[in-house]
Parts: sequence; C-alpha cells; structure tokens
Amino acid sequence: MTRTRHFDTLAAHAGVAPDPASGALAPPLQLATTFEHAPDAATPLGYLYQRYGNPNQAQLEQVLASLDGGARGMFFATGMTAGTTLMQALEPGSELLIADDTYFGYRAVAGQWLARWGIRHTVVDMTDLDAVRAAVGPDTRLLWAETPSNPLLKVCDIAALADIAHGAGARLLVDGTFATPVLQQPLALGADIVLHSATKYLGGHGDVMGGVLVFAADDGLAAACHELRRQTGNTASPFAAWLVLRGLRTLPVRIERHCRNAAAVAEYLSSHPRVQAVHWPGLASHPGHAVAARQMHGGFGGMLSFEVAGGRDAALDVAGRLRLFTNATSLGSTESLVEHRASIEAPQKQSPPGLLRLSVGLEDPRDLVEDLAQALG
Ligand SMILES: *Cc1c(COP(=O)(O)O)cnc(C)c1O
Repeated sequence: MTRTRHFDTLAAHAGVAPDPASGALAPPLQLATTFEHAPDAATPLGYLYQRYGNPNQAQLEQVLASLDGGARGMFFATGMTAGTTLMQALEPGSELLIADDTYFGYRAVAGQWLARWGIRHTVVDMTDLDAVRAAVGPDTRLLWAETPSNPLLKVCDIAALADIAHGAGARLLVDGTFATPVLQQPLALGADIVLHSATKYLGGHGDVMGGVLVFAADDGLAAACHELRRQTGNTASPFAAWLVLRGLRTLPVRIERHCRNAAAVAEYLSSHPRVQAVHWPGLASHPGHAVAARQMHGGFGGMLSFEVAGGRDAALDVAGRLRLFTNATSLGSTESLVEHRASIEAPQKQSPPGLLRLSVGLEDPRDLVEDLAQALG
C-alpha cells in the first residue's frame, strides 16, 4: 500500500494484492480461530488466536489507516465499542469534554459509566469555541467532537478545536461517521483520532457492523486501545472485516451519489411550506456552512434532518406516509431511511419533537422528492 496514490485508487484497490496462495483477486476470508505456533508459542506469521488479531482484520486496518492518513487503524465489533474502548483507555482522574450533539449512545455511556471508571465528563457545544475554551480544565485529556453531527448536522471547526485541545495538553477525537474519509480528513486538520461507525457508509450495504479508530500517532493511547481490545474481546469477526473492506472499494462513488441526492432533497424540503427547518451543511443558510465548505471536500454528505411544522404528531404522520423512505434506524446504506429520532433516543439526549432524520440513499432523486411531496401533501 503506497501513500502516493490518490484516494479513489486506494479505495478501489482496498490494499488487496492477489492472494499469494491462489492468485485470487478478492481477498480470502480466513475464519480460523487459532493459528499454529512454535512449541515456545512464537508466532512466525504473527497470528495466535483470532481475538488477538487475524488476517482479514489486519488487511482492513491497513487500508483504514491509509484512507484517513493515520499511523494506525483499529477495527472493532461496533462503532460503540470503538468509542467506549477509547474512553476506557483514559487514565482515571481524566476529564472528557463531549459535544452536546454527540451520537446518543456515547452520551449514554458517558452518563452512566464514566464516573465508575474515575473519569469526569462535561457536555459542551463544540460549535462555540469560546464555550470550549471555558470548559477546558487542568484534567481535560480528550475533546470528543462529531461533525457533521447526528442528528442535527451541527458542524464544528476541527482545526480550531485541535488547537484548543493541544494548548491544554489534550487530544481531539472526531467522530467522522457522517462525512467518511471521502469528504473529511480530520487528522490532516490536526485531530489526533478519527472514529467511524463502519456499520454506516464504510460497510455501505446495511449488512455488517463495525467500528473504527484511526490514530495520527501510534502512541501509548493507541497501544492501550489495542491491548483493551485484545483482552476484552471487542474484536469484530473476520467476515465483518471482509465485508467492510469490500464496501470501501466503492465508497467514493457511493458518497458522490449520496451527496448529490441529499442536495436535491434538501433543496426541495427548503421550499416546502410545512417544513420549518432543514439541517444540511450544504445549504448556504446552515450556520455551519462556511466551516463545512472549508473543511469538507467534494460534498456535504448524504445525511440530513428536517423539522415538520406541528411538532411530534405532524412528524410521525409524515414519517408514516412515506413509501420509498423506510422507517428504520441506522444510515449509510443504499436505500433511503427515515427516523423520528426523539422516539428512539436515550433520555440523556432529546432531538426536537418535530425532527425527522433522513439517510438519503442511492435511488433516483426524482423518486425521493416525489415520495416526500406526497407525504408532506
Ligand atoms: C451509528 C453511529 C455510531 C455508533 O455505531 P454502531 O456501529 O451502531 O455501534 C457512532 N457515531 C455515529 C455518528 C453514528 O451514527
């Protein structure tokens, strides 16, 4: 894998050279749980036990690191366990600053468990840099940002947050699940760690779960996360690694189409009298548009949310009338999904009652707009 190749080329080949044993171009799926070792347990080929490391995981991690421009990529069973492992790797006594619109699962873990692990956390609006500066304290070790965020599509300034974090001796993590490495390169902007739920766009077909951490430096924190995964077993199956690697091959072309379709949907919704607000960073009216235009490249993503006039009942009515958009959680697959977020979120976080989140898929945008038109009436 060479760094001198362009991004789309790296993705299309996904680090896969023909298999030396067979000449196969698609990578072999290696499901073995155990690998032969020497009598003294030396492992000449580097593998001992599937939970510690396995060929499909190693192949995927190399590609993930190269797509995000990091020193080390790590693949986990889910996005949640990738993030939770990082939280668990912090020293007791540390403080974590977490963005107010962070994915609700991380907010739930932070609220319920961090104190037991001796870690404090403070919720802060990461789009407000003065608020972040004011919140940073002597024990702050990690700033946890998500941009664009789920589900309000808030955009925070990665380079500015990296400066604040580094000035305080802390690291910056960016959850880049919505943007993917195609549209946004947080490490190049100064972030220390990128997180992705590979369940979403990286897998891309709604049939595999996975989580990713990519570290700018292969440092002690990366080593601690690796050790935690080895010991606690947050390891993904080799088949999950295989499927995510397969998804990466088409990631740039899928993202291009997701972005184009989302632009058509956002434009349509913006002009509808029953729609009070459209949250999509590609719109010039979005408060984060200028920052997004600076730090994202090639588009603004396939996720958006909008608020229906009339609140919860009106939003549920619209969601119920949609035919092409399926009511389902998750995002980033080929088919379009709609979800009333307030109905499924943990109590720590409440989206506006009239808010519907859309994962805009790869359908013809005319069909998507027509479906929204008949549902909104
Ligand atoms: C889904 C999601 C996660 C959690 O990932 P899982 O694979 O579901 O565990 C984290 N961050 C964001 C932004 C997400 O959308």
